[in-house]
Amino acid sequence: MSRHDEIAAGLADTERRIDEACSAAGRDRSELTLIVVTKTYPASDVDHLVDLGVAEVGENRHPDAERTMTELAGLRTDLPRLHFLGGLQTNKAGAVARYADTVHSVDRAKLARSLDRGAAAADRVLGCLVQVDFDATDPGRSGVVPDGVPELADLVASCEHLRLDGVMTVAPLGEDPRRAFDALMEISARVRTDHPGAASVSAGMSADLEQAIAAGATHLRVGRSILGERPSTG
Ligand SMILES: *Cc1c(COP(=O)(O)O)cnc(C)c1O
Repeated sequence: MSRHDEIAAGLADTERRIDEACSAAGRDRSELTLIVVTKTYPASDVDHLVDLGVAEVGENRHPDAERTMTELAGLRTDLPRLHFLGGLQTNKAGAVARYADTVHSVDRAKLARSLDRGAAAADRVLGCLVQVDFDATDPGRSGVVPDGVPELADLVASCEHLRLDGVMTVAPLGEDPRRAFDALMEISARVRTDHPGAASVSAGMSADLEQAIAAGATHLRVGRSILGERPSTG
């Protein structure tokens, strides 16, 4: 099978899972945005994805993300929107603000301010999601604790070159993801009372997209089940 056909099959399989989960939850597919997570895969895979109609891709590392987008720009002019998903160092925020459309991993005030400066320098407006961490047992994870979300959301919303789009989480390992996804939905509702436009809820990966759809997510971030197992952890 060609790589194009392999990716087409993975995409069709994932779309089938999404359709079934939507039916089970009484939701419409149009409420959901699928972000294909292309980290560790070559730009040629992203090229196939765009051929197959994918308009949203996710990456989690600078400069890998920038290199992929630069290579892709050499292959075609209709580029997908890039979602930055990873833990982000403040000193890389300015670069990411130049090429990302949305950053899903805003988890501290200093990062928000750096992204705002970077977006201002590039004369653009960057979409931002506040990443929430529900795993108190692992202090190394990205994300702000649930109680810290309102203050950080207010700060992002006050930045001239940032747009507060919503909230995001990665479900803690080793437990039912519904607990984290339901908690994220509650936080999202609270954020929306002050920021009605911040309607995005980014939750659900290859292993737990059904639970995310059932909980009410608007954005899924799926890599492996479309592109195959990654050679290394990305
Ligand atoms: C890698 C990654 C994903 C995709 O994970 P898969 O298991 O490949 O679907 C989603 N979200 C984040 C933040 C990631 O780093």
